Amino acid sequence: MISSTESESVKYSVICRSVSKRYLKNTPFEKIDVQALKEISFEVLCGEIFGIIGPDGAGKTTLFRILTTLLLADSGEVIIEGLDAVKEYKSIRNITGYMPGRFSLYQDLSVEENLNVFAKVFNSSVQENYYLIEDIYRQLEPFKKRKAGQLSGGMKQKLALCCALIHKPKVLFLDEPTTGVDPVSRKEFWEMLERLKKQKITILVSTPYMDEAALCDRIALIRDGRFLEIESPGNIVKKFTHDMWKVHGENMSKLLTDLRLYPDVRSCFSFGDSHHITMKSRNPDIGRLRNFLIDRGHPSIEIEKGEAGIEDCFMELTNDERNEPGE
Ligand code: ADP
Repeated sequence: MISSTESESVKYSVICRSVSKRYLKNTPFEKIDVQALKEISFEVLCGEIFGIIGPDGAGKTTLFRILTTLLLADSGEVIIEGLDAVKEYKSIRNITGYMPGRFSLYQDLSVEENLNVFAKVFNSSVQENYYLIEDIYRQLEPFKKRKAGQLSGGMKQKLALCCALIHKPKVLFLDEPTTGVDPVSRKEFWEMLERLKKQKITILVSTPYMDEAALCDRIALIRDGRFLEIESPGNIVKKFTHDMWKVHGENMSKLLTDLRLYPDVRSCFSFGDSHHITMKSRNPDIGRLRNFLIDRGHPSIEIEKGEAGIEDCFMELTNDERNEPGE
């Protein structure tokens, strides 16, 4: 096991070394062994916004529960602000804030009661660190007597963030904070994270939304319990070396099947209102592809060159992994 040195723990808020976790999952017929995390290693710099990006079931929540000392890893080492997650878990809990994916607040307590409870649990008071949550709480204030269970999704999310912040944590863990939240609230939420970063709070945030990845300093792309890549969003996109085309037609599901039948198509994935493709040849004959698709019943086909985004890179990495020998 690699142990952290003193200089590492000063520079890094979070050090995670070779962390693995298995579950035994009960199904109606059998117990299945699920390897939720496989040898995860990464570091998060002090004051960084670090995103963990991946689909449902990738292992994000398991990793967050281990990092917040709520779950023990089967193997590996976790150091938070220089503290060992197993031996010094109580100290870690005092200096971290955790906003779990599912709504974690007391539904029957009002907005202000929830906030007071969270402050008291950490021997703090709302007044002491009010400056940290002021921007967010101002929007909640008109509803401060309302029960948390009766708030809208966006307001619940803001209250949960206030509660995770009220003891002024050094590290904030946000597990899918914007899932199920409307686009305006999502945008506001990320603006809040930027303001918290200026207060030198380290933020680990997980999300299934690739557009949010671009707002992080660095991201880890996770799939099936493994990190595929850790990089800044800009560098991840730069590593996408293939030309990409966006293809749109009337019957999108048949179009996907037909594109995959074309011999020169290297990869093809569906992204919202178009399919993104890369080609095997360096100078592909797009006119020929167009004719092929017209012949297969797509008369009004549109093909245009596109800019690859994080999601394209994620699919590319997943594809590479599947094509690796021995996988
Ligand atoms: P994510 O947060 O990315 O959706 P999770 O960490 O929740 O991923 O889940 C990773 C894998 O572990 C999934 O296959 C999930 O079904 C499984 N899993 C998560 N929690 C448990 C549990 N308590 N018992 C059994 N399997 C679990």
